[in-house]
Amino acid sequence: MNRPIASVSLDLDNLWTYMKTHGDTGWADYPSYLDIVVPRTLDILKQRDWHITWFIVGKDAEEPKHHAVLKQITEQGHEVGNHSYHHEPWLHLYSEAEIEAELARTEAAIEQATGVRPTGFRGPGYSYSPTLLNVLSRRGYAYDASTFPTFLGPIARLYYLASAKNLSAEEREKRQKLFGTFRDGLRPLRPYMWRTETGPLLEIPVTTMPFFKVPIHLSYLLYLGGFSRTLAKLYWRTALTLCRMTGIELSLLLHPLDFLGSDDTDRLSFFPAMKRPAAGKLKLVGELFDMLESAYTVVPMRDHANAILARTTPPIMYAEQ
Ligand SMILES: [Zn+2]
Repeated sequence: MNRPIASVSLDLDNLWTYMKTHGDTGWADYPSYLDIVVPRTLDILKQRDWHITWFIVGKDAEEPKHHAVLKQITEQGHEVGNHSYHHEPWLHLYSEAEIEAELARTEAAIEQATGVRPTGFRGPGYSYSPTLLNVLSRRGYAYDASTFPTFLGPIARLYYLASAKNLSAEEREKRQKLFGTFRDGLRPLRPYMWRTETGPLLEIPVTTMPFFKVPIHLSYLLYLGGFSRTLAKLYWRTALTLCRMTGIELSLLLHPLDFLGSDDTDRLSFFPAMKRPAAGKLKLVGELFDMLESAYTVVPMRDHANAILARTTPPIMYAEQ
């Protein structure tokens, strides 16, 4: 059977990045769970012989104590991508010079840690701007993967910030586009080319449910699984079926918290799925991965980008602020 391809990527958000966005004290000590979550996730992927893309945060890549664990990612044949240096979901407010510095520093740090220079980018909290896209194109990136075409971004933001008690009015202002705006829901699910100053740049959106534009990434499925495993699997089956019917090649997004539980850290209990121990979550993750594998061939995002460009010329889009 000739199965369509699905790219899988993991945003390697560290413990401190969540605490920082949430305004929790202690983030500036850069607490980390990379030594737990990276080997655990690599093992799960190895069992399936899956190779995916890991979007790495520059600040973590620069830290020598993380180098051994990050090196395993490329040693096991995975792609590494750039997930910004400071992981600030208000990246769209940065000046051109700030974006340039942010990207360059992260590229150097990831290359130092893993031996490979990234050619794909995903903005923290799905943030992007025309300036960012221009800089990515100029720096020779093969693709951007920052858009998240869903109508539910503003609801996720309200939920996230409702429990963030330490944020000042100014800090809240910076987060007013966290997880995207309602208008992002109007963006296409299929890949397209951004028109930038230095030529076209491929965009591979995070796939959401065809027609309904509701999230289908793993964290959302696990959230549903907290109510009912049957519901989570039914929802995922519906998403896979609709993608196949509409000819959409999936780009599935993973996060470290999909592989961690309340027994790994108690500092992230503001996430609904982090109130449960890891074992039950991992069982459901395995079942959801089985379902993906039965319908799709899993590839890293770079391979997805190459496959798209080899067979079609995606439509050109203008970026709006
Ligand atoms: Zn992130």
